Amino acid sequence: MIPYYDYLIVGSGLFGATFAYCAKQMGKKCLVIDKRPHIGGNVYCENIEGINVHKYGAHIFHTSNKAVWDFVNSIVEFNRYTNSPIANYEGKFYNLPFNMNTFYQIWGITTPTEAMAKIEQQKAEAIARMRADGVSEPRNLEEQALILVGKDIYEILIKGYTEKQWGRKCTELPAFIIRRIPVRLVFDNNYFNDKYQGVPIGGYNKLIEGLLDGVKCETSVDFFATYKDCWREIANKLVFTGAIDEFFNYKLGKLDWRTVSFETEVVDTPNYQGNAVVNYTERVIPYTRIIEHKHFEMLGQKVYDCLKTVISKEYSVEYKEGMERYYPVNDNRNNQLAEAYRKLAEDEQDIIFGGRLGQYRYYDMAPIIQHVLNSKEFRVNF
Ligand code: FAD
Repeated sequence: MIPYYDYLIVGSGLFGATFAYCAKQMGKKCLVIDKRPHIGGNVYCENIEGINVHKYGAHIFHTSNKAVWDFVNSIVEFNRYTNSPIANYEGKFYNLPFNMNTFYQIWGITTPTEAMAKIEQQKAEAIARMRADGVSEPRNLEEQALILVGKDIYEILIKGYTEKQWGRKCTELPAFIIRRIPVRLVFDNNYFNDKYQGVPIGGYNKLIEGLLDGVKCETSVDFFATYKDCWREIANKLVFTGAIDEFFNYKLGKLDWRTVSFETEVVDTPNYQGNAVVNYTERVIPYTRIIEHKHFEMLGQKVYDCLKTVISKEYSVEYKEGMERYYPVNDNRNNQLAEAYRKLAEDEQDIIFGGRLGQYRYYDMAPIIQHVLNSKEFRVNF
């Protein structure tokens, strides 16, 4: 029997959906399956009270690659949303990423020269303290951060947030987690340095639906329970964007993940916090940040035209079996194990492993799209 589909694509996230779109453009037939009850993977939005709620975490598209930007805008137009998060520490607000606005808020200084002098002075104090203790190299994340930016920025904006993210004290975390901490000596609250950024007008579902338009999709279908043993009967090639260790039945061991959980609620006010992202940088507040979803898409008066709002409190939690896999863990054990799995994957001639789970690598959205467009299946070079 000749298989009916050119590709069986496991996963309808950005990798699977972009792959299906490119294959369709080349006249290939695809079947896309997803174990979740919806398409879109982690960029999926749930509509609550007319607001697109980023169910699996806040997503802001950003890239400097014009071809990728033009590609996504050919599917759905993007708005001008600019990510400029705010930090709340003991009830006071600070702009992120660290820039002249932040330094004014911390020290009341007004010029880049004063800011630089303050940071250099605090860095020198940290180095002198380490030397007095007989330490030449930072022994942990706290020491590393102190010699990179000094005491005030570390204590107000880094310490508590990092401890919540990792569930451990900064003195117990390795120094290599923070290699550099960029500081901007300009008044610029734009988080990303990329040339283009925004959010699809109408939400990410529009992007995914546009990519998958005309492609057969089956949701609530787990590859391992349905197609694992018979996929070659229906498709010539498999595109697998699920977890790479699970594909190989964990035969080399299990890969670890970090995860986040969300507490989402509708609030009876049009504007809860005046910004999409507010980070809570104190250790005693259990969540790391609050996302107010309407601000991604509703700009200006539109915020008030929609009478309610939806917020999500985001918590960093330790990954346990059955939870959503969010971030790969970049330590030696996991890096080596992932590499061993990627080697096994290379031997699978008619299977393409892609995306964040299939590669066990953190990718932003734009690189995911770029990978598909550059893949040898399509040979569209950017
Ligand atoms: P996914 O979106 O995870 O899709 C994989 C799909 O495969 C899922 O739908 C899953 O259900 C399905 N699947 C898995 N196993 C099976 C199986 N056995 N059978 C059937 N289906 C299966 N990037 C940015 O550029 N900007 C941001 O602001 C940003 N914010 C982020 C915030 C968070 C909290 C996280 C975790 C990531 C963020 N990212 C962001 C990265 C972005 O989410 C990824 O680049 C993108 O989702 C990767 O797409 P993917 O298709 O590889 O994976």
